[in-house]
Amino acid sequence: MTISPDAINVLVIDDEKDIRDGVERILTRMNCSVIKAPRGEEGLKILEKEKVSIVLLDMKMPGMDGMEVLGLIRKLDESILVIVITGFATVETAIEAMKRGAYDFIPKPFEPDQLRIVINRAVERIRLTKEAELLERERQQTLFDLDTEKSRIRTIIESLPNGVVVTNSQGQVVLMNPSFRKLLDLKSDLGPGEHINDYVSEKGLCDLIMEISQGKHVDFDDIPTYEFAVSGNKYLLARGQPVLGERRECMGAVVNVVDITTMKALDQLKSEFVAKVSHELRSPLSTIHEQLAVVLQDMVEDDLQADQEILSRAKEKTMGLISLIGDLLDLSRIEAGITSQEPKSVSIEDVLKNITDFLNTKAKSKEQTLTLELPKKRLPSITTDPVSLESLFGNLITNAIHYTQNGGKIKVKVDLTGINLRIAVIDNGFGIQEKYLDKIFDRFYRVKDDKTRFITGTGLGLPIVKGIVDSLGGMIDVESTSGEGTTFTVILPLQNQMPVS
Ligand code: ADP
Repeated sequence: MTISPDAINVLVIDDEKDIRDGVERILTRMNCSVIKAPRGEEGLKILEKEKVSIVLLDMKMPGMDGMEVLGLIRKLDESILVIVITGFATVETAIEAMKRGAYDFIPKPFEPDQLRIVINRAVERIRLTKEAELLERERQQTLFDLDTEKSRIRTIIESLPNGVVVTNSQGQVVLMNPSFRKLLDLKSDLGPGEHINDYVSEKGLCDLIMEISQGKHVDFDDIPTYEFAVSGNKYLLARGQPVLGERRECMGAVVNVVDITTMKALDQLKSEFVAKVSHELRSPLSTIHEQLAVVLQDMVEDDLQADQEILSRAKEKTMGLISLIGDLLDLSRIEAGITSQEPKSVSIEDVLKNITDFLNTKAKSKEQTLTLELPKKRLPSITTDPVSLESLFGNLITNAIHYTQNGGKIKVKVDLTGINLRIAVIDNGFGIQEKYLDKIFDRFYRVKDDKTRFITGTGLGLPIVKGIVDSLGGMIDVESTSGEGTTFTVILPLQNQMPVS
């Protein structure tokens, strides 16, 4: 017989066929599946194979008696409810059976109703047991889920790069993560529990947190923010939201703090850039404009000689603009890691000779001497982008020419020092005051003193130089004495020459 998975399965073990059949008739109508066994041994075999919930067990049978069968059923599966069937004269047996774990008993002979009552009671017990088991499983699962969820959320909050602080409606801190302590320079082992004022000295931030905690921002859609500086040069932005209960009552505040120092610096740089570019573009453009107007006028009067001078000045100014734009493009290319040309084997000696030859004309126009001093030993080639190398030394030598008085001396000196190449660009020009030395590699930075004020430039040459040296895995150093001269020293590794990237 196949047992239905939903119905209650009942095994009847009784040597009397009438009883077995009678029980089957009654229980089938009660939506039970009934299996029958005339003897204890057979009943036990069935139990090994089938899932049975209730056993109706006759106490008096030939062969193995009911009490022994009961003991073995209990050993096999304690959850099976055994209802013993006893004769009138064996009440003691029923009591004994109950002591040994029988669930109930029914005296023989019994009426169908008696059987129904006993079976219904057992079925109800099974249902309740199943329900209790289910509830317990659910409870365990919920506890497990809650526990995992709690520790997961805690881990996430603890490892957030943004600072997080949560306060209750009185402004007492109930949670703060390590990033919050770090951003606000609080002690790393400081725990929550105190009022926000005890942790944060920035009054504006405390006021904001208190306002949110006390429900002053519950009805607003905007997220209140507060920007402030800590330890001088670090800028932080706090954004807060109220924590709302089920009835939208304010239970406290959650505030997120982010470091916006880089954003601020970028912003500043952007403004400087715009100001600088506008400033640098405006005057040459106006000159070109005015001069073109004169040319137009002159053309009417047909004075060709004057036109030439004016046009060459206009050309000079446009050259200035082109060079500014070129520098800007070079710099952004270097910063974006874009190589001008494919890296290849480059003779540093050839590069330096070409540049000094080329710039000699410029130096001569200021009656300066520009010399290249190479070591006796032939220099090895290096693998790199030749255009970047030209730009690197071109910028340094051009600066030396610009910032050296007429008649001055400029020397490019190359040394081989083991695994490095040392190239120094030395001039005996204006020099740079010590206080400016750490600023000259910043973008757009230009020293404006009596001597340099009238020299045009973009302030982008040295940042470009630095970018190239970095990309070659090298180093650059500057030594200068105001009024005596400047030496820029570039050290390039000969091994592992890398492309400019
Ligand atoms: P630019 O030359 O376009 O102004 P740079 O970035 O090349 O920009 O140089 C930044 C500043 O460093 C210059 O404005 C100048 O004041 C100073 N400087 C650079 N090279 C020299 C040098 N050889 N001698 C003196 N000052 C220099």
